[in-house]
Amino acid sequence: MQLDDTIHTLAKEVFSIQTLRPFQHVVIQRILELDQQSADHSGLLVTLPTGSGKSLCFMLPSLLVEGLTVIVYPLLSLMNDQVRRFTSKGIGCVAIQGGQTQELRKRLFDDLALQKCKVVITNAECLGQASVIAELARHRISLLVIDEAHTIVRWGEGFRPALAALGPVLAYLPIKQILCFTATADDGVVEGLNHLIFTKHKPHVVRASSDRPNISYHVFRTLCKDHTLSTLLEHSLSRPAIVFCNTREGTHFACNAFLRSHPGIPCRYYHAGLDANQRKALEAWFENQKEGVLFSTNAFGMGVDKSNIRTVIHREVPGDALSYLQESGRAGRDGNQSRAVILLDGTEKDGLATLFSSTTACHRQSLLAELGEELEFCNGCDVCRHSVYTEREGEAALLRCIAVHPLHYSPSSLSALLSYKKAYNSFSRTLSGWTQKEVRSALHLLLAEGKVGTTKRHRRLFLRYEAYGRLLTSLQLYRMLKYGTKRTGKHTNKNVPYASPPVPSGETGATQAYTPSTETGFLMEEIVPVAHPR
Ligand SMILES: [Zn+2]
Repeated sequence: MQLDDTIHTLAKEVFSIQTLRPFQHVVIQRILELDQQSADHSGLLVTLPTGSGKSLCFMLPSLLVEGLTVIVYPLLSLMNDQVRRFTSKGIGCVAIQGGQTQELRKRLFDDLALQKCKVVITNAECLGQASVIAELARHRISLLVIDEAHTIVRWGEGFRPALAALGPVLAYLPIKQILCFTATADDGVVEGLNHLIFTKHKPHVVRASSDRPNISYHVFRTLCKDHTLSTLLEHSLSRPAIVFCNTREGTHFACNAFLRSHPGIPCRYYHAGLDANQRKALEAWFENQKEGVLFSTNAFGMGVDKSNIRTVIHREVPGDALSYLQESGRAGRDGNQSRAVILLDGTEKDGLATLFSSTTACHRQSLLAELGEELEFCNGCDVCRHSVYTEREGEAALLRCIAVHPLHYSPSSLSALLSYKKAYNSFSRTLSGWTQKEVRSALHLLLAEGKVGTTKRHRRLFLRYEAYGRLLTSLQLYRMLKYGTKRTGKHTNKNVPYASPPVPSGETGATQAYTPSTETGFLMEEIVPVAHPR
């Protein structure tokens, strides 16, 4: 009870937090309990979704434990953020990072020796240096915190070997507790951490669901991703937004395409190939954006704590559920409703694409199941909202036009017809929101898939047998072939009452709106020769 009171008083007085969230309370209490035990090197692995107040879980106990708190971050920007957070609360801390002079280091170490501050913020590379190890070994370390601990496993085996080499350093230092924090952890990460960090004792695990209820998950099927991106991000409510691309060139191309369709919307591209200053400037630019769009590789994100990102779009499907949840989790840190969107154009085959292609399994549940979590209730995804649209955007319009006018248009004349603002037949303007370039790229995809073919000499488009067959089962096509397109208005049977009596046989032509008694009846009886309105 006394401990509870102390926690709440500190939360109020130092951090101005009136009520702790249930998980924060559990974690803080656990840390303080373990601190009372005699065993050294006990471990705690905490998974808390982003935006749930993770830092407080170790900032608050650092005030109550006797020895030092050493916090290890994978990125410089995260270190700086944390230093700022501690100083703003009036808690002294030293940051040990690369590029510091010997004099500065000495001064920092003196501050520690004189107990001017009890918190050290550093990274794995510095923690591996002999001078730092020697200095820290002279102190009692109550808490050693590793934030974004999944990077130890994910990056440690690749380009940041210092992360994977932390184990022996930690085993050498006089540490009471090792705390690993991460937003999401699958079995691989947990196993990796057990192997690399918790070498002496298996950790206690406190796991909050990785679910982010304020993010809804959507899949958009399209023939042209650039077009879908431009419609998705058109409205200012969907911004600020991040668009993740899987290559550096991809960010560049997608950004330029977006700029062409929306010259007024601020957008930039970002990847690890840019130099450090450029990246810093871009991060600062995006931080201040109220309606900007950033096209980026997965190099962007962890160091950035922008709270009001409304949409995260993945132009390509990411490698695994863990990365997807991490990356889409950049949306809605302020707790407001946000969207995570995946674009599929039918070329994706394996991995997560199968998960997102499903029209029956809840996206949120399937994603969390990949991390071994079960979820009872989905707070919003296409499947649960019954808004799955299996047809790719643009496909129907293209196929129908080619079906009705076989061998009539070349790819360029067809893309001009469909996208032009002027009307010169019933198909004009059916894709009026698209640019000619977007329609062409959609056509190229259909050509590559073999649904559409062109003649050798004049490159006239026709529908391949298989696509034609599939199209003929579509109810709308029959309606359109017989009564004209919806756009021509007067020839549709849309307004004919469902149960109206049959029209007397004297009338002819398209207006002879026979209304069948059932939908199937319509299908069976309305197979008529193609009569295209000229
Ligand atoms: Zn769902």
